Amino acid sequence: MGICIQNAHLLYDDRKVRKNVYIEGNEIAAVGNAPEGFRADTVIDASHRTLMPGLINAHTHVYMSLFRNFADDVPFQTWLFERILPIEDELTAEQCYWGDMLNFAEMIRTGTTAFLDQQMFTKSCVMAARDAGIRPVISRGLVGSVRTEEGVVRRWREALETMEYARETGSNATFMVSAHAIYTCSEDVLRFTLDVAREKGLPITTHLSETKKEFDDCMKEHGMTPVRYLHELGLLDHEITIAHCVWLAEEDYKLLARPNVHVVTNPASNAKLANGFAPVARMLREGIDVALGTDGAASDNTQNMFTAMHLLSLMQKGVEQDSVVLGAKETLKIATENGARAAGFGDTAGRIEPGAKADLILVDETAPNMLPNFDIASALVYSATGTEVTDSVIDGKIVMRNRELLTIDEERLRFEIEKITDSF
Ligand SMILES: [Zn+2]
Repeated sequence: MGICIQNAHLLYDDRKVRKNVYIEGNEIAAVGNAPEGFRADTVIDASHRTLMPGLINAHTHVYMSLFRNFADDVPFQTWLFERILPIEDELTAEQCYWGDMLNFAEMIRTGTTAFLDQQMFTKSCVMAARDAGIRPVISRGLVGSVRTEEGVVRRWREALETMEYARETGSNATFMVSAHAIYTCSEDVLRFTLDVAREKGLPITTHLSETKKEFDDCMKEHGMTPVRYLHELGLLDHEITIAHCVWLAEEDYKLLARPNVHVVTNPASNAKLANGFAPVARMLREGIDVALGTDGAASDNTQNMFTAMHLLSLMQKGVEQDSVVLGAKETLKIATENGARAAGFGDTAGRIEPGAKADLILVDETAPNMLPNFDIASALVYSATGTEVTDSVIDGKIVMRNRELLTIDEERLRFEIEKITDSF
């Protein structure tokens, strides 16, 4: 299928310059002139709109949209251990499918085209992502104190079955191996994570140094910081995407500054759960690759990456007392190009250039909060709310056209969500 996006203002270009972008299959075939023999099945008029790479949510738990606004304004330990985990344990695969779908509806409406997830029901996630037409990177969170059926063995077997299912059904899903966190995984389980990641050639993802308690407990138990602990176990020598890194010691920056390590900051979740402000500006200065996520909807009640960009930039300026840090263009790159690296898509993803994945969105430049158009990057980070996204192409397929979702029946979705959450 060929798609021509006509007269688009490309992000980072002068706004008076308008170009055509040609999509063939699931890739961008050309920018500017049509490639030889190109036939457009669909032409999208992009006048008064900005064409940009889709935003990449590099850390979330999509089924958790079922818990949106369910357990707010309580202490972190209460939130996790008393409110969320008990109902989470009762969830079924079908309920998670609809929770995932709710998340995808919000993601597509607000410009996210791909996400990196830690899941309970990985197969449901593959199915929901396929039905919604979004691009998933899925991991099954491993937990436990030893390699038992309860903690690791069954979960890893499920992950392997899902990978096989995705391969057989031609899904665009890719996978990572996930150790949930150092406070839910023993050393044995962390070593297992590294072993299977090496064996399968998959990246690792984990939560790390999210709370002060986690940092202090690790110092007490292992006599080193959480970052050094992962380093000593060899995990930082592998391709790894680490959520949070709110609490870092001086020595940690050097350990994280390497091309195979990607940190994902989740400013809304860290602030809402009162875990602090990740030192993102400092990490960037130290050469650490930082991407952006929302975390699950139980701790960041929106999955909107425009809101996440807005918060990231403003919070860092406030914390650093420096209005120059985390500028609009840098923040956009964090949510696109850096997100693509953290999600394991490689260097050409998250850009508008021939050969890149056709994951693109159009943003309305005429909304009152976007005018006047002095600087589109500023408008996208400081003024946009996410509702300005009008069209979305993911994996070369149009999933939203003129704000209408083409892959998700929102009325049915509302019905299913109400049915599930009535029983909570
Ligand atoms: Zn998380």
